[in-house]
Amino acid sequence: MRIDIVTIFPEFFQGPLDYGIIRRAREAGLAQVEVHDLRAFAHDRHRTVDDRPFGGGEGMVLKPEPIFECVESLHVATQQERLAGRVRQSIVLLSAQGKRFDQGVADELAALDRIVLICGRYEGVDERVGQYLADRELSIGDYVLSGGEIGAAVIVDCITRLIPGAVGNAASTQQESFTAHGQLRTANGPTSTCASGGLLDYPHYTRPASFRGIEVPEVLASGNHDEIRRWRRRSALQKTLRNRPDLLNQAVLSDEDRKLLTQIQGRDI
Ligand code: SAH
Repeated sequence: MRIDIVTIFPEFFQGPLDYGIIRRAREAGLAQVEVHDLRAFAHDRHRTVDDRPFGGGEGMVLKPEPIFECVESLHVATQQERLAGRVRQSIVLLSAQGKRFDQGVADELAALDRIVLICGRYEGVDERVGQYLADRELSIGDYVLSGGEIGAAVIVDCITRLIPGAVGNAASTQQESFTAHGQLRTANGPTSTCASGGLLDYPHYTRPASFRGIEVPEVLASGNHDEIRRWRRRSALQKTLRNRPDLLNQAVLSDEDRKLLTQIQGRDI
């Protein structure tokens, strides 16, 4: 996968892209990330990329010309080809007004060959970029950041770990919070029987079994795979109900899950 990032702060990405899974995926050639300085596409002596808003109001707006020229220099397929699905490419504008980026969108993007991420700044980006250049606007959450760079780093991090081969144990990315397509049950014991199905992840523990007098739940050391699976599922349901009840509406729930949920709710009331 190739990812191009368009930004007025290219140095920002030294760091977020240089550690752990992203670094290894880049080194292994699974992900090629190129960062482009928007100012290189400005035409005046001061390398101006922003201007005052039409209609008045606060702040400055990123001008369309440098962004269009920068993206055109990357030779991505035409918007017609992209939107018709003839190529697996997408141009994304980071925007607080965008569709919310979540694990489902991450899965969608991770299946592409090429992504361009445009980072806004100031009051935002001339609307013609979102309308005529980008295929979609994505927001990383319901809050306003000062620029799109952190959002771009979030998206790169999230999708890179989904590229086959990027994470040593591919099964581990199937079993995490929000991942809706994991299987609920396999024959391989507890590690692969607790796919989230769209819930939050279950709690994890490691050694020591007793830490400052706080014990790891006994069932986890019991060796009883079915008990462990049930405990993990119940814990995941409990945590989801407490922290993110909204997720339960779309979660993949088995009959056993529904029973566990009724028990949990009964006990909490
Ligand atoms: N005036 C805009 C905010 C501009 S913030 C508004 O009220 O919606 C400047 C830039 O930061 C945006 O152009 C965008 O690229 C980025 N940004 C801010 N919040 C973001 C978010 N939640 N997700 C993704 N990008 C965001």
